[in-house]
Amino acid sequence: MAQEIKTQLQTDPTKRCPYCFTPLKLTAENCIECRSKVGPVGKLGLAKKPPNYKAYAAAILWATVLAIYIWKIFF
Ligand SMILES: [Zn+2]
Repeated sequence: MAQEIKTQLQTDPTKRCPYCFTPLKLTAENCIECRSKVGPVGKLGLAKKPPNYKAYAAAILWATVLAIYIWKIFF
C-alpha cells in the first residue's frame, strides 16, 4: 500500500508555476493562476521560465539606437 502511494507521488503528472507555484498540467503553456507563460517541466517539477524574446528584442533595439546616437554625436 505505502509503496503504491510513493510511486504515485513520483509519477504525478504536474509541474509547478515558477512564479506562483500553482500545480499545472504538464502540457500547460500558461499558468492558470497568474497567466504567466511557463516552459516545459524542469528539475524539482518546476516549469522552466521561457525566454523573453520581447525583452531581448527591445534590449537589442535600444542598444542599436544608442550606438547610432553616439556615432552621430562623435562623427
Ligand atoms: Zn503562476
